[in-house]
Amino acid sequence: MQKKKITVAARKRIALVAHDNMKSELILWAREHKDKLVAHELMATGTTGNLLQRELSTPVRAFISGPLGGDQQLGGMIASGDIDILIFFWDPFEPMPHDPDIKALLRVAAVWNIPIACSVSSANFLVSSPLFSDEYTRDIPDYESYLAARV
Ligand code: PGA
Repeated sequence: MQKKKITVAARKRIALVAHDNMKSELILWAREHKDKLVAHELMATGTTGNLLQRELSTPVRAFISGPLGGDQQLGGMIASGDIDILIFFWDPFEPMPHDPDIKALLRVAAVWNIPIACSVSSANFLVSSPLFSDEYTRDIPDYESYLAARV
């Protein structure tokens, strides 16, 4: 599919998700990077979002809990262009019950070419990039051109 470019604003819309065994890692990571995170719009699956809001003392839009459909809500927002970055600490030791949700969320994030971090070190790379707090341009699928060429 052809691509088109969009400009992502300096203030990002960041989605955060952590499976139960990974929540403490995400909370510690968020505490360490609080100053940078609070400059952006934060959203998360239900339990992750409530924990983060308490930790950061800043509003975090919490969707439905992940296993109840929150991961898919975030996936839908990525497809609508409403999420710029995904921090997703999925549990590598207990992927099984989450497997379809992990695949679906990572897949749609790859389709829409948003930066993804699935571990503390990759999240550190993201947060320390100048692009984390600057405007940047990214390619996304150009579905309108695809459709125009087919009908
Ligand atoms: P939670 O969902 O933040 O509601 O725990 C995360 C998940 O398991 O996908």
